[in-house]
Amino acid sequence: MNKQVLLRALPKVDALIGRVTALPEGAGIPYAALLGATRGAVDRLRKDILSGEVTALPTEEALLGEVLRAARRQAAFSLRPVINATGIVLHTNLGRSALGERVAEHIKQVAMGYSTLEYDLQSATRGSRHSHIEGLLCRLTGAEAALVVNNNAAAVLLMLTALCAGREVVVSRGELVEIGGSFRVPEVMAQGGAILREVGTTNKTHLRDYEAAIDPEVTGALLKVHTSNYKVVGFTGEVDIAALSRLGRDRGIPVLYDLGSGALAPLGEWGPALLGSEPTAAEQIRRGADLVCFSGDKLLGGPQAGIVVGKKALIDKLKTHPLARALRIDKLTLSALEATLRLYLEPQEALAHIPTLNMLCISDQQLSAKAHRLLEALPPGDYGAEVQPTQGQAGGGSFPGQDLPSYAVAVLPEAMSLEQLERCLREFEVPIIARIYKERLLLDVRTIDDGQFSTISRAFALIFSKKEGQPHA
Ligand SMILES: *Cc1c(COP(=O)(O)O)cnc(C)c1O
Repeated sequence: MNKQVLLRALPKVDALIGRVTALPEGAGIPYAALLGATRGAVDRLRKDILSGEVTALPTEEALLGEVLRAARRQAAFSLRPVINATGIVLHTNLGRSALGERVAEHIKQVAMGYSTLEYDLQSATRGSRHSHIEGLLCRLTGAEAALVVNNNAAAVLLMLTALCAGREVVVSRGELVEIGGSFRVPEVMAQGGAILREVGTTNKTHLRDYEAAIDPEVTGALLKVHTSNYKVVGFTGEVDIAALSRLGRDRGIPVLYDLGSGALAPLGEWGPALLGSEPTAAEQIRRGADLVCFSGDKLLGGPQAGIVVGKKALIDKLKTHPLARALRIDKLTLSALEATLRLYLEPQEALAHIPTLNMLCISDQQLSAKAHRLLEALPPGDYGAEVQPTQGQAGGGSFPGQDLPSYAVAVLPEAMSLEQLERCLREFEVPIIARIYKERLLLDVRTIDDGQFSTISRAFALIFSKKEGQPHA
């Protein structure tokens, strides 16, 4: 058809918006999103007509569908909740730890008004933001003092900068860790102005290696790093923190331990035995480490934060270093962390109200029963589904190379590909993130809340109601 004729036949933006809002699916979409989406669709069509790419106008139904999808995308928040059906509890890309109701409620109260952030109610004078959680952290870890910064990477940077700038830091070659997202021990060290002094070999480091490297004139610290996301197996050996701490004490050199995931509770006693292999912060303090740092949103199950606990004299140096101000945490994180730490005072409370702990410690039978409940909640449709045991993961760089057995609902669609189903779920109004494994789409129930079953069911009803398996997008 002639380009001019096509251009004249292009629908008017206002008229198109009118027709979209008349649709039941179009109700409630903000006008700005509708306008942007409609203009975008018409502009694109005009361009394609001019370039000759489009030689016939799309049907009204197709055009309305396109506008509707684009408008919904524009109206949605960019950072928004998803359903984690991967079974990976500490999924860094999906935000690591989810917070429970009680913690969220406390954040809300602090967020919506003024607070005691840096105000001492007793003396009516300026207070310290550290005061809110230092006592709790000391109680939970047995340390003398504590400090919290933005994340664990910041905690390591602060320790190295405040205590070791211009001096050597002795680290085992087997512990020069890279964590995803560009945290590499040697680079953080360079950033902190410390000089890396590698000792030992990749697979074995002995106490005598550390001993030989110590020079009281230049050594700033002995650093131990928990190899949280990999495992060296075979002929291996590392120096444990107790022996390293004794050496540091004898030579008057601080011993720092980057614990990474840092469990606060003895998880092995609470859930699967595997969880017991993760060291706790309290244990490292007891065994003599001068400073221990770990993440707030890994095994602890709180907000993103970096926690440092240990000797008061060292913590004081960190607190007064100018970098501490740049790395400090905000009041919302602080409120979430205090509320989370308080739950740890009662193990039953922690287990019940910290989702990360709950998901990690849930029993096999509970997982299997949960998977059967999800299966029953799914609507009938053109697909097969069954409950299947799976190999999940803790994630967040904990328990490397070790699977956390779980249960999933395994789905096999009849009239669309697994990839299409995966995409439709991912593009649902509440995105559902699932994985494909061995010719099935798996919905691992370890990381799905019972309260989310109805949403998944709604997604399935919509996806499988389309004619000829036309995917919903
Ligand atoms: C995860 C991890 C970090 C980084 O912690 P963030 O809280 O993500 O900044 C540092 N060191 C180790 C050993 C880790 O496992």
